[in-house]
Amino acid sequence: MAARIIDGKAVSAAVRERVKVDVAAYVEEAGRTPTLATVIVGDDPASEIYVANKHKACEQVGMNSVHHGLEAATSEAELLELVAALGADDDVDGILVQLPVPAHIDSDAVVAAIDPGKDVDGLTPANAGLLAHGTPGLVPCTPAGVMELLAHEGVELEGAEAVVVGRSKLVGVPVARLLLSADATVTICHSRTRDLEATCGRADVLVAAVGVPRLLGAAAVKPGAVVIDVGMNRLEDGLTGDVDFEAASEVAAAITPVPGGVGPMTIAMLLVNTLQAARGRV
Ligand code: NAP
Repeated sequence: MAARIIDGKAVSAAVRERVKVDVAAYVEEAGRTPTLATVIVGDDPASEIYVANKHKACEQVGMNSVHHGLEAATSEAELLELVAALGADDDVDGILVQLPVPAHIDSDAVVAAIDPGKDVDGLTPANAGLLAHGTPGLVPCTPAGVMELLAHEGVELEGAEAVVVGRSKLVGVPVARLLLSADATVTICHSRTRDLEATCGRADVLVAAVGVPRLLGAAAVKPGAVVIDVGMNRLEDGLTGDVDFEAASEVAAAITPVPGGVGPMTIAMLLVNTLQAARGRV
C-alpha cells in the first residue's frame, strides 16, 4: 500500500490565504495593522534565516513586522528590558524571541517575561497552563500546525489512539494536549519508553517529534495509520524526518513528507497567532 502524501505546503498556502483575507478585514475594522516584533540575540545564521522568513511571511499577508537584532554580549537584564518594552508598546501585537539565546541568558526566564497576550510562540507558562486546562490561549505554532494538517485531512480524532513520540515543551507535550482536547486517547513516548515500536504500533495517529533521523520504521506503524513527522534532521543527503518515510509509506494510510509536511505549517500558524493576538487587544 502506498500512503497518501499530506501536502504541508498546500495546506500552509491555504492558511496564509485565509489569514490575508482576515488581516484585511481586521485593518478595515480596527484602523491599524497587526505587528510582529522579533528579537535575535547574537548572529546565529540559522536564526537569521528563520526570522527573515517570518518577516517575509508577515509582509505577504499584510502584517507589519519589526526586528531587534541584539549583540551576542547583550545581558539577560537588557533582553528582559526589551521584552518588557515590547509588552508595553501598543503598536506591537506579537513578540517572538528567537531561540536559542546565548548560554549566559536563561531562556526560560526570558520566555516567562513575555506578555502572554503577545506570546505568539505560545511558550509562556501562562499559555502552557491555559492549554493544560483545555482553554487554549495562544498555542505553540508547530503543534497547532500538526492539528491543522489533521483537520485538513479529515482525520477522525474522537476515540482514536494517538501516540506522540517526544515530550518537549515546544512540540511533544502541546501536541499531546491538543490531541487530548480533540478526544483522542493519547500516549506520550520518550527516551525511557520501554517498547517504543509496540506502543507506536497501536497508534491510529502517530506523531513523531524526536530529533533522531528515521527512528520509526515500518514496525512502528499500524497498518492504515496517519503519520505526522515533525522531525527535521539535517544530514549530509539533506533534511530527514524521525520516520523512515519509504518504509512507513508502505504501511500508513497517510504520511507527511520531510521537507514539505509539518515544516511549512509553523510560519503559517505564527501568522494565525499574530492576528489572534491583535484581535485579543481590540
Ligand atoms: P527535543 O526538545 O530534543 O525533544 C526530543 C524528545 O524526543 C524528548 O522528549 C526525548 O525524550 C525524545 N527522544 C529522544 N530520543 C528518543 C528515542 N530514542 N526514543 C524515544 N524518544 C526519544 O526536540 P523538539 O524541540 O521537541 O524537536 C523534535 C524534532 O522536531 C526535532 O527534529 C526538531 O528539529 C523538530 N522540530 C520541527 C519543527 C518544524 O517546524 N517542523 C519545529 C520544532 C521542532 P526525553 O524527554 O526522555 O529526553
